[in-house]
Amino acid sequence: MSDRPVAVVTGASSGIGAASAAALSRAGFDVVLGARRPDRLAEAAAECGGTPLPLDVTDDASVAAFAAQIDRCDLLVNNAGGAFGLDSVAEADLDDWQRMYDVNVLGTVRVTKALLPRLIASGDGQVITIGSIAAREAYKGGAGYNAAKHAEAALTRVLRLELLGQPVRVCEIDPGMVETEFSLVRFDGDRERADAVYRGMTPLTAADVAESVAWVATRPSHVNVDQLLLMPRDQAAAQIVHRAED
Ligand code: NAP
Repeated sequence: MSDRPVAVVTGASSGIGAASAAALSRAGFDVVLGARRPDRLAEAAAECGGTPLPLDVTDDASVAAFAAQIDRCDLLVNNAGGAFGLDSVAEADLDDWQRMYDVNVLGTVRVTKALLPRLIASGDGQVITIGSIAAREAYKGGAGYNAAKHAEAALTRVLRLELLGQPVRVCEIDPGMVETEFSLVRFDGDRERADAVYRGMTPLTAADVAESVAWVATRPSHVNVDQLLLMPRDQAAAQIVHRAED
């Protein structure tokens, strides 16, 4: 059995989660990767020599089964999440709102709660939650995602307060635009609409965010990076984006 610290990354089958798993493996962690799509999860795990475990953060039984297979946890990266739709409040699809709350908020609580005893027992634990610029700023069409990411940020900040005095650090990393499968999922597989989000500008890559995750994770244990906002140079606010003329 290795004595490397163990990092658990949720939503690790693509995008920021897969890239974070790889960056953390390079930084000296043994990595456990959780997500729903088994093929993509196995691929991401093979790339970083990590352990893939099935996980649906919206399902109590799935989280319990996942946590039961993890003996040691030094770092939890709460990354599973996403947006569904870009409807106005007037046109709000309540099913989308429910799904966003379930995955981003309740999913994060569920996994954090399940692994917190292991994080405390490690003697030097850390929770890094991937929030969003949507947790800092309201934007048109963003209400459901804004509400979910604001709630996820609130729970992360409360956790920081509640764990004061325990050997567990808590950090919120809030990225702006990152080109992953995020927009494809948001627009229900509409490739043209997803590609248009990044047209004429240079977004962050998943690897850019993953480097921040690894940097936060490897600060000396007395240093708590509380919040980190990370955007591409071409983005100055949620919907203020510089795009090159065609
Ligand atoms: P992505 O490529 O779509 O990745 C989302 C990941 O979450 C996938 O691995 C997906 O895997 C997993 N996931 C979704 N629902 C899940 C569930 N119920 N249980 C377990 N895993 C689940 O998008 P991404 O950009 O990397 O998103 C990662 C995080 O960054 C999200 O929290 C997102 O809100 C946040 N974020 C993204 C951006 C951006 O512009 N891309 C900006 C700010 C914040 P499965 O489908 O296999 O389960």
